[in-house]
Amino acid sequence: MTKTIIFPDKTKVCSLGQGTWYMGDDPDKRAEEIRSLREGIDLGMTVIDTAEMYGNGRSERLVGVAISGQRHNVFLISKVLPSNADYEGTITACERSLKRLGTDYLDLYLLHWRGRYPLQETIEAMEELQQSGKIRQWGVSNFNVDDMKELENISEECAANEVLYNLYRRGTEYDLQPWCSKHGIPVIAYSPIEQGRILDDTTLKCIALKHGKTTAQIALAWVLSHENVLAIPKAGTLKHVKENHGALDVNLDKEDFQALKEAWPAPDTKVPLEML
Ligand code: NAP
Repeated sequence: MTKTIIFPDKTKVCSLGQGTWYMGDDPDKRAEEIRSLREGIDLGMTVIDTAEMYGNGRSERLVGVAISGQRHNVFLISKVLPSNADYEGTITACERSLKRLGTDYLDLYLLHWRGRYPLQETIEAMEELQQSGKIRQWGVSNFNVDDMKELENISEECAANEVLYNLYRRGTEYDLQPWCSKHGIPVIAYSPIEQGRILDDTTLKCIALKHGKTTAQIALAWVLSHENVLAIPKAGTLKHVKENHGALDVNLDKEDFQALKEAWPAPDTKVPLEML
């Protein structure tokens, strides 16, 4: 059965989505990137994550092309840069993103990371965008527990926190993930295969061999095995997007979890939130 996640507004999506950082940057890769995103949507990986920052809007433009005619099937996420996140800046940044994406609403709009503007101001803009129908929900990215608590004092409407999470970066398991689960806030795991850097690992290779899968599929299945977590691997080729989709069929057993835990132990103390 496909793993799903439910957002606070009750929207249910497949827990395996698609990232888009660096997409649109290389003209020679463009056609394949568009095909890959479309294939991902057809396979049910309907969450697409982009940001105004990615390629200065190039990723959003490419996503706009990829989802044209398919908007209703997609759960679209974009992000405002902290340097734009004052009240007016957030609203105009969102409008620019919508234009590049060729749509009139985002399913989720995130503050990319904390910057110099007061959270209160950004949230007021998010609420205004929500009221005017330009976004369905809003959330944050790269927020640690202290940031989340500060945010909670301003509003309880945060719909997601997007953070770095993979086998190699387990710090959020100690405090942030339990906090988000307790508050009904989904965690979106970015760089779930550590941008490819963990795929040659011997433990992963052994488990992959046992299941007849690839190391990327095992690494993704491990992320997806966690409650309240949505993973957004970026795949710029048809081969990779199909392979990543195959992670949904992997059922890791006790032995696998134990081996992965020995190779990459869970944190037993609070660690600073890592960012890429
Ligand atoms: P990632 O998804 O962990 O890794 C992407 C890299 O892995 C690409 O080089 C990709 O190559 C390769 N890859 C994908 N599938 C593969 C497979 N099955 N086998 C081998 N290699 C594979 O890293 P990421 O792009 O940093 O993170 C994912 C998304 O999270 C981003 O694209 C972005 O949307 C989001 N993100 C958000 C933040 C934030 O601050 N909120 C920060 C970082 C990332 P190809 O492209 O050639 O397929």
